[in-house]
Amino acid sequence: MSTPLIDLFSDTKTKPSAAMRAVMAAAEVGDERAGEDPTVTALEARGAALLGKEAALYLPSGTMCNEIALAVHCRPGEAVLCEAGAHIVGFEAGGAAALAGVMLEPISGTRGMYSAAQLQAHLRADNLQAPLQRLVAVEQTSNLGGGAIWPLSELRAVAQVAHAAGLATHMDGARLPNAVVASGVPTADFAQGYDSVWIDFSKGLGAPGGALLAGSKAFVREARRWQLRIGGAMRQSGIIAAACLYALDHNLARLAEDHARAQQFAQGIARIGGLSIDVATVQTNLVYFEINAPGWDAQKLAAATLAQGVRLCPMGLRRMRAVTHLDVDDAGIARALEVIAAALRG
Ligand SMILES: *Cc1c(COP(=O)(O)O)cnc(C)c1O
Repeated sequence: MSTPLIDLFSDTKTKPSAAMRAVMAAAEVGDERAGEDPTVTALEARGAALLGKEAALYLPSGTMCNEIALAVHCRPGEAVLCEAGAHIVGFEAGGAAALAGVMLEPISGTRGMYSAAQLQAHLRADNLQAPLQRLVAVEQTSNLGGGAIWPLSELRAVAQVAHAAGLATHMDGARLPNAVVASGVPTADFAQGYDSVWIDFSKGLGAPGGALLAGSKAFVREARRWQLRIGGAMRQSGIIAAACLYALDHNLARLAEDHARAQQFAQGIARIGGLSIDVATVQTNLVYFEINAPGWDAQKLAAATLAQGVRLCPMGLRRMRAVTHLDVDDAGIARALEVIAAALRG
């Protein structure tokens, strides 16, 4: 029997548990596109309440939530302010330009976050020549920022600066649940002040797919129009929505275990020669570290560990990412650290 892969590549690698599959098999379903799937309708109501918004829309992916939100908030040619490392900048195949037709105006922040003062400095008066600024976007937690949690006070200040200037606000909450569990701040409190916000079910929550995009009734109505336009409406999608409801009941609080294991992993990395990490910056389930062992880079280390059953995610020449999730246990973390150390020893 081969040993199972310890997959630290991403929290998207989770597979639905037997209990989650049982709930999916038993789900009541209908034609979602016609508003007739009771499980999807229940999930949307629950999501709206959780996020503190009037309404929510179930979509196939987080990427689609971002793209639809940009398209609803902005007209082609308008500008969206976001952090330079944001998912909408580098990981959505240019969708912001191709679908919403917007310009992205990146702000160089720290660990994926910018301050209200930095935002203020990027605002300009409407001068006809420059793209009209329409939307301010944040990412909670920041992915390329190492899973960093925007402090509630800064999020509120950013939203206040945006609204005072007449701009709308959007929160990419792919890992908002991680921020909630790690900080103790309720989901709706983080989302307050953001005109649109979404959470992903295919990351740490462990469902096979789906995301919920929330906002005002008027926003969600326009989002549904875009959902139809780009082919994001499904039929008996209660099958997967049931997994999302299950995830809200069973996989939310347990994110704390992933955060504890990320700490364990980070502390282990700090003890391995040839690697460097700032353990204090590990706040949630993402762990980034640098490889400075002579003769090694991220691709080479990832290949060496994969050969021993440990998958890591190269994120640049010498930068590596490891992500904890519900399919990695304490033994998996210990084994991953052994394999990494052994690889570097040669
Ligand atoms: C994963 C991710 C997305 C996209 O979500 P998908 O469900 O994979 O499409 C968007 N933003 C951030 C910050 C992410 O980590």
